[in-house]
Amino acid sequence: MSVIKSLLLSLSLSIGATAAFAADEALLSSKISQRHLIIEPQLNLAGKSNPIQVALTLDACSGDVDHRILDVLVREKIPATLFVTARWLRRNQAAIEVLKAHPDLFAIENHGAEHVPAITVLKTMYGIPTAGTPAAIEAEVKGGADKITAIFGKQPQWYRDATARYSTDAVRQIEGMGYKVAGYSLNGDRGASLPAATVAKRISYAKDGDVIISHINQPKRVSGAGVAEGILTLKKKGVQFRLLRDMPARAAPNVVSETAPPNESVSQKENKSHSKVKTKPASAEPVPVSAQ
Ligand SMILES: [Zn+2]
Repeated sequence: MSVIKSLLLSLSLSIGATAAFAADEALLSSKISQRHLIIEPQLNLAGKSNPIQVALTLDACSGDVDHRILDVLVREKIPATLFVTARWLRRNQAAIEVLKAHPDLFAIENHGAEHVPAITVLKTMYGIPTAGTPAAIEAEVKGGADKITAIFGKQPQWYRDATARYSTDAVRQIEGMGYKVAGYSLNGDRGASLPAATVAKRISYAKDGDVIISHINQPKRVSGAGVAEGILTLKKKGVQFRLLRDMPARAAPNVVSETAPPNESVSQKENKSHSKVKTKPASAEPVPVSAQ
Protein backbone atom coordinates (compact mmCIF):
# COMPACT_ATOMS: atom_id res chain seq x y z
CA MET A 1 0.00 0.00 0.00
CA SER A 2 1.36 3.40 -0.94
CA VAL A 3 2.13 5.91 1.77
CA ILE A 4 -0.59 8.22 0.48
CA LYS A 5 -3.18 5.43 0.47
CA SER A 6 -2.31 4.45 4.01
CA LEU A 7 -2.46 8.10 5.13
CA LEU A 8 -5.90 8.46 3.54
CA LEU A 9 -7.05 5.26 5.22
CA SER A 10 -5.90 6.37 8.67
CA LEU A 11 -7.49 9.79 8.11
CA SER A 12 -10.85 8.26 7.21
CA LEU A 13 -10.62 5.90 10.19
CA SER A 14 -9.97 8.79 12.54
CA ILE A 15 -12.88 10.79 11.08
CA GLY A 16 -15.12 7.76 11.50
CA ALA A 17 -13.98 7.36 15.10
CA THR A 18 -14.69 11.03 15.82
CA ALA A 19 -18.21 10.70 14.45
CA ALA A 20 -18.85 7.50 16.40
CA PHE A 21 -17.75 9.09 19.67
CA ALA A 22 -19.28 12.53 19.15
CA ALA A 23 -20.09 14.13 22.49
CA ASP A 24 -23.56 13.39 23.80
CA GLU A 25 -25.17 16.79 24.32
CA ALA A 26 -27.14 15.41 27.25
CA LEU A 27 -23.93 14.81 29.23
CA LEU A 28 -22.58 17.48 31.57
CA SER A 29 -19.07 16.34 32.59
CA SER A 30 -17.32 18.19 29.76
CA LYS A 31 -19.34 21.36 30.45
CA ILE A 32 -18.48 21.86 34.12
CA SER A 33 -15.31 23.49 35.37
CA GLN A 34 -13.30 23.22 38.56
CA ARG A 35 -14.87 26.50 39.70
CA HIS A 36 -18.40 25.15 39.61
CA LEU A 37 -19.61 23.91 42.95
CA ILE A 38 -23.36 23.32 42.78
CA ILE A 39 -25.33 23.08 39.57
CA GLU A 40 -29.03 22.71 38.82
CA PRO A 41 -28.85 21.39 35.26
CA GLN A 42 -31.18 22.61 32.56
CA LEU A 43 -32.37 19.98 30.12
CA ASN A 44 -34.19 20.48 26.83
CA LEU A 45 -35.08 18.18 23.99
CA ALA A 46 -32.69 18.84 21.12
CA GLY A 47 -33.84 20.18 17.76
CA LYS A 48 -36.99 21.95 16.67
CA SER A 49 -40.37 20.45 16.04
CA ASN A 50 -43.74 21.49 14.69
CA PRO A 51 -46.11 20.61 16.30
CA ILE A 52 -44.10 21.26 19.40
CA GLN A 53 -42.71 18.41 21.49
CA VAL A 54 -42.20 18.28 25.24
CA ALA A 55 -41.05 15.65 27.72
CA LEU A 56 -43.25 15.32 30.79
CA THR A 57 -41.23 14.10 33.77
CA LEU A 58 -42.95 13.28 37.05
CA ASP A 59 -41.13 12.59 40.29
CA ALA A 60 -42.32 10.01 42.80
CA CYS A 61 -40.20 10.91 45.81
CA SER A 62 -42.11 9.06 48.51
CA GLY A 63 -45.73 9.07 49.66
CA ASP A 64 -48.53 7.79 47.45
CA VAL A 65 -49.66 7.95 43.85
CA ASP A 66 -51.73 10.86 42.53
CA HIS A 67 -54.52 9.29 40.48
CA ARG A 68 -55.69 12.69 39.27
CA ILE A 69 -52.54 12.63 37.13
CA LEU A 70 -51.96 8.91 36.52
CA ASP A 71 -55.53 8.26 35.36
CA VAL A 72 -55.41 11.14 32.86
CA LEU A 73 -52.13 9.84 31.42
CA VAL A 74 -53.60 6.36 30.93
CA ARG A 75 -56.98 7.56 29.61
CA GLU A 76 -55.47 10.08 27.20
CA LYS A 77 -52.51 7.83 26.27
CA ILE A 78 -49.96 10.50 27.21
CA PRO A 79 -46.39 9.23 27.62
CA ALA A 80 -44.47 10.34 30.72
CA THR A 81 -41.08 9.64 32.24
CA LEU A 82 -41.43 8.80 35.94
CA PHE A 83 -38.51 9.29 38.32
CA VAL A 84 -39.19 6.89 41.17
CA THR A 85 -37.35 6.10 44.38
CA ALA A 86 -36.99 2.62 45.82
CA ARG A 87 -38.87 3.80 48.90
CA TRP A 88 -41.85 4.96 46.76
CA LEU A 89 -41.87 1.62 44.93
CA ARG A 90 -41.95 -0.25 48.23
CA ARG A 91 -45.31 1.26 49.17
CA ASN A 92 -47.14 1.63 45.86
CA GLN A 93 -47.71 -1.86 44.52
CA ALA A 94 -51.05 -1.01 42.87
CA ALA A 95 -49.48 1.87 40.97
CA ILE A 96 -46.62 -0.41 39.86
CA GLU A 97 -49.19 -2.70 38.24
CA VAL A 98 -50.64 0.23 36.28
CA LEU A 99 -47.17 1.31 35.14
CA LYS A 100 -46.25 -2.24 34.12
CA ALA A 101 -49.49 -2.58 32.14
CA HIS A 102 -48.49 0.41 29.96
CA PRO A 103 -44.79 0.03 29.11
CA ASP A 104 -45.33 2.10 25.96
CA LEU A 105 -46.57 5.09 27.99
CA PHE A 106 -44.33 5.05 31.03
CA ALA A 107 -40.55 5.09 31.16
CA ILE A 108 -39.32 4.35 34.68
CA GLU A 109 -36.13 6.19 35.60
CA ASN A 110 -34.00 6.49 38.73
CA HIS A 111 -34.79 8.98 41.53
CA GLY A 112 -32.53 7.17 44.03
CA ALA A 113 -32.99 4.69 46.83
CA GLU A 114 -33.99 7.01 49.67
CA HIS A 115 -34.35 10.44 48.05
CA VAL A 116 -30.96 11.86 49.00
CA PRO A 117 -29.38 14.92 47.28
CA ALA A 118 -26.25 13.99 45.26
CA ILE A 119 -24.11 16.62 46.94
CA THR A 120 -20.83 16.16 48.78
CA VAL A 121 -19.79 19.76 49.50
CA LEU A 122 -22.75 20.93 51.59
CA LYS A 123 -24.44 19.25 54.55
CA THR A 124 -28.01 20.03 53.49
CA MET A 125 -29.94 21.29 50.48
CA TYR A 126 -33.36 22.84 51.15
CA GLY A 127 -33.07 21.29 54.61
CA ILE A 128 -32.59 17.74 53.28
CA PRO A 129 -29.38 16.04 54.48
CA THR A 130 -27.10 15.40 51.48
CA ALA A 131 -25.26 12.19 50.57
CA GLY A 132 -21.97 13.74 51.69
CA THR A 133 -19.62 11.13 50.22
CA PRO A 134 -19.07 9.35 46.89
CA ALA A 135 -19.84 6.04 48.63
CA ALA A 136 -23.23 7.33 49.76
CA ILE A 137 -23.97 8.65 46.27
CA GLU A 138 -23.12 5.28 44.78
CA ALA A 139 -25.40 3.50 47.26
CA GLU A 140 -28.23 5.94 46.51
CA VAL A 141 -27.94 5.60 42.72
CA LYS A 142 -27.39 1.84 42.75
CA GLY A 143 -30.15 1.23 45.30
CA GLY A 144 -32.66 3.04 43.10
CA ALA A 145 -31.52 1.27 39.95
CA ASP A 146 -31.53 -2.20 41.49
CA LYS A 147 -35.11 -1.81 42.69
CA ILE A 148 -36.33 -0.55 39.30
CA THR A 149 -34.55 -3.33 37.44
CA ALA A 150 -35.94 -5.97 39.80
CA ILE A 151 -39.52 -4.75 39.33
CA PHE A 152 -39.60 -3.61 35.71
CA GLY A 153 -36.84 -5.77 34.21
CA LYS A 154 -35.25 -2.77 32.56
CA GLN A 155 -32.20 -0.72 33.54
CA PRO A 156 -32.88 3.00 34.02
CA GLN A 157 -30.86 5.34 31.80
CA TRP A 158 -31.51 8.67 33.50
CA TYR A 159 -30.87 9.80 37.06
CA ARG A 160 -32.45 12.69 38.92
CA ASP A 161 -31.54 13.24 42.55
CA ALA A 162 -33.80 14.53 45.34
CA THR A 163 -33.43 18.28 44.77
CA ALA A 164 -32.31 18.45 41.10
CA ARG A 165 -29.15 20.14 42.44
CA TYR A 166 -25.77 18.41 42.39
CA SER A 167 -22.19 19.02 43.36
CA THR A 168 -20.08 18.75 40.23
CA ASP A 169 -18.06 15.80 41.55
CA ALA A 170 -21.36 13.95 41.96
CA VAL A 171 -22.36 14.72 38.37
CA ARG A 172 -19.06 13.27 37.12
CA GLN A 173 -19.54 10.23 39.34
CA ILE A 174 -23.14 9.60 38.21
CA GLU A 175 -22.26 10.02 34.53
CA GLY A 176 -19.31 7.69 35.14
CA MET A 177 -21.82 5.11 36.35
CA GLY A 178 -23.48 5.28 32.93
CA TYR A 179 -26.39 7.64 33.61
CA LYS A 180 -27.51 10.89 32.09
CA VAL A 181 -28.40 13.48 34.72
CA ALA A 182 -31.99 14.60 34.24
CA GLY A 183 -32.34 18.33 34.62
CA TYR A 184 -35.45 20.15 33.52
CA SER A 185 -36.44 23.41 31.83
CA LEU A 186 -39.96 24.06 33.13
CA ASN A 187 -40.83 23.67 36.80
CA GLY A 188 -44.55 22.97 36.75
CA ASP A 189 -45.45 22.63 40.42
CA ARG A 190 -42.43 23.77 42.47
CA GLY A 191 -42.33 20.68 44.62
CA ALA A 192 -46.13 20.24 44.55
CA SER A 193 -46.34 23.53 46.45
CA LEU A 194 -48.30 25.79 44.06
CA PRO A 195 -52.06 26.35 43.70
CA ALA A 196 -53.72 24.24 41.01
CA ALA A 197 -54.58 27.16 38.72
CA THR A 198 -50.98 28.40 38.82
CA VAL A 199 -49.60 24.95 38.03
CA ALA A 200 -52.03 24.47 35.15
CA LYS A 201 -51.06 27.83 33.68
CA ARG A 202 -47.31 27.21 34.02
CA ILE A 203 -47.53 23.82 32.30
CA SER A 204 -49.84 25.13 29.56
CA TYR A 205 -47.13 27.67 28.61
CA ALA A 206 -44.64 24.89 27.71
CA LYS A 207 -42.47 25.71 24.70
CA ASP A 208 -41.00 23.39 22.08
CA GLY A 209 -38.34 21.18 23.64
CA ASP A 210 -39.29 21.82 27.24
CA VAL A 211 -38.60 19.15 29.83
CA ILE A 212 -41.36 19.65 32.40
CA ILE A 213 -40.86 18.58 36.02
CA SER A 214 -43.79 18.00 38.39
CA HIS A 215 -44.81 15.48 41.04
CA ILE A 216 -47.06 12.43 41.02
CA ASN A 217 -46.68 11.49 44.68
CA GLN A 218 -48.81 14.09 46.52
CA PRO A 219 -52.49 13.21 46.01
CA LYS A 220 -53.55 15.34 49.00
CA ARG A 221 -52.03 18.59 47.74
CA VAL A 222 -53.89 20.87 45.33
CA SER A 223 -51.00 21.08 42.85
CA GLY A 224 -51.75 17.68 41.31
CA ALA A 225 -55.11 18.85 39.94
CA GLY A 226 -53.24 21.62 38.14
CA VAL A 227 -50.73 19.15 36.69
CA ALA A 228 -53.59 17.10 35.23
CA GLU A 229 -55.30 20.20 33.85
CA GLY A 230 -52.09 21.59 32.36
CA ILE A 231 -51.34 18.29 30.62
CA LEU A 232 -54.85 18.20 29.12
CA THR A 233 -54.47 21.79 27.87
CA LEU A 234 -51.21 20.90 26.14
CA LYS A 235 -52.81 17.88 24.51
CA LYS A 236 -55.72 20.01 23.24
CA LYS A 237 -53.16 22.41 21.74
CA GLY A 238 -51.68 19.51 19.78
CA VAL A 239 -48.45 19.30 21.75
CA GLN A 240 -46.67 15.95 21.38
CA PHE A 241 -45.40 14.23 24.50
CA ARG A 242 -42.15 12.30 24.20
CA LEU A 243 -40.20 10.05 26.53
CA LEU A 244 -36.73 11.22 27.54
CA ARG A 245 -35.26 7.85 26.56
CA ASP A 246 -36.52 8.27 22.97
CA MET A 247 -35.15 11.74 22.35
CA PRO A 248 -31.81 13.45 21.87
CA ALA A 249 -31.49 16.06 24.59
CA ARG A 250 -29.24 18.99 25.40
CA ALA A 251 -28.03 19.76 28.92
CA ALA A 252 -26.54 22.95 30.34
CA PRO A 253 -24.94 23.10 33.82
CA ASN A 254 -26.87 26.14 35.17
CA VAL A 255 -24.41 27.00 37.91
CA VAL A 256 -25.97 27.80 41.29
CA SER A 257 -22.75 28.46 43.22
CA GLU A 258 -19.05 28.34 42.55
CA THR A 259 -15.74 28.56 44.33
CA ALA A 260 -14.06 31.90 43.92
CA PRO A 261 -10.88 31.73 41.79
CA PRO A 262 -7.64 32.47 43.72
CA ASN A 263 -7.40 36.09 42.55
CA GLU A 264 -10.91 36.86 43.74
CA SER A 265 -10.76 35.21 47.12
CA VAL A 266 -10.05 37.28 50.18
CA SER A 267 -6.51 36.86 51.46
CA GLN A 268 -6.26 34.01 53.91
CA LYS A 269 -4.07 36.26 56.11
CA GLU A 270 -6.77 38.92 56.28
CA ASN A 271 -9.63 36.63 56.98
CA LYS A 272 -8.97 33.00 57.73
CA SER A 273 -12.62 32.25 58.22
CA HIS A 274 -13.70 33.71 54.90
CA SER A 275 -15.67 31.23 52.91
CA LYS A 276 -14.43 30.61 49.40
CA VAL A 277 -17.91 29.70 48.39
CA LYS A 278 -19.77 32.28 46.38
CA THR A 279 -23.40 31.44 46.39
CA LYS A 280 -26.23 32.95 44.45
CA PRO A 281 -29.02 33.51 46.94
CA ALA A 282 -30.56 30.08 47.27
CA SER A 283 -34.14 30.42 46.22
CA ALA A 284 -36.29 31.81 49.01
CA GLU A 285 -39.06 29.53 47.87
CA PRO A 286 -39.24 26.27 49.79
CA VAL A 287 -37.97 23.12 48.08
CA PRO A 288 -38.82 24.13 44.51
CA VAL A 289 -38.17 20.77 42.88
CA SER A 290 -38.76 18.28 45.65
CA ALA A 291 -41.99 16.99 47.09
CA GLN A 292 -40.92 14.83 50.00
ZN1 LIG B 1 -38.14 13.89 44.56
